[in-house]
Amino acid sequence: MTCDTPLSVIDLKAARGSRHALLREVGQSGQHRIEALRVLILGAGGVGCPAALYLAEAGIAHITIADSDKVEASNLARQTLHTAERIGTNKAQSAKIELARLAPAVDVCAIPEWVDEEKIAFLAQTCDIVIDCTDNFKTRHAANRAALRCRKPLITASAIRYSVQTAFFDFSQKDSPCYACAFPEDDELDVKASAVGILSPVAGIAGMIAAEEALKWTAGLKTLAGSLLVLDTLTWEMQRIHLARMPNCRSCGCRADRL
Ligand SMILES: [Zn+2]
Repeated sequence: MTCDTPLSVIDLKAARGSRHALLREVGQSGQHRIEALRVLILGAGGVGCPAALYLAEAGIAHITIADSDKVEASNLARQTLHTAERIGTNKAQSAKIELARLAPAVDVCAIPEWVDEEKIAFLAQTCDIVIDCTDNFKTRHAANRAALRCRKPLITASAIRYSVQTAFFDFSQKDSPCYACAFPEDDELDVKASAVGILSPVAGIAGMIAAEEALKWTAGLKTLAGSLLVLDTLTWEMQRIHLARMPNCRSCGCRADRL
């Protein structure tokens, strides 16, 4: 083959997954599961963009990505699927355009609207895992309740200033805590990058941790399930906090299927 010979779709797929397959814990079977993975990503911002990018480049089958916001110039430093030409475009649609360019084999569905619990549950039905990359507690709790209802695993990832938080909830396990066990709705306090700032790569780290957890779960590797990872990139101190299911949790405490 010369450098002018284009790779076939099959060759490209095999090459794309070849480094994963070399990993003893993943292997060819794990990579085949990755290639069949369908994910729902909530938010096409600083965390959602790198999560979607790494999952698409890993050769997964499908991404549904939802965001109601439009691309702004101040987003471009960290929201890596958007371009200056697409300022004013819906973020989910902008992400779909870029993902189609970078990884055309991945089927991408853009949802250019705000999603509530019902809509998230509807979208999650056709996906294997939900990745919440939104920046507000209202949607995070809605995603938590929807994933609980559908028994889909939920990864939540966020970044602010220099700090990254990522948690994994495996709702196929009856004793799994939920997001509301750790962050009760009454305690909600939205802190947004637009108000307090963020160093751009910090959002990328959060998105990449979320993508890695999704790939690990798919390949059958041990994940963060049941715990919260907190990384301070200013000091590089990291804490893994084990979360407990709260019997009085308003989201999961009274569910008959969880008793
Ligand atoms: Zn709970």
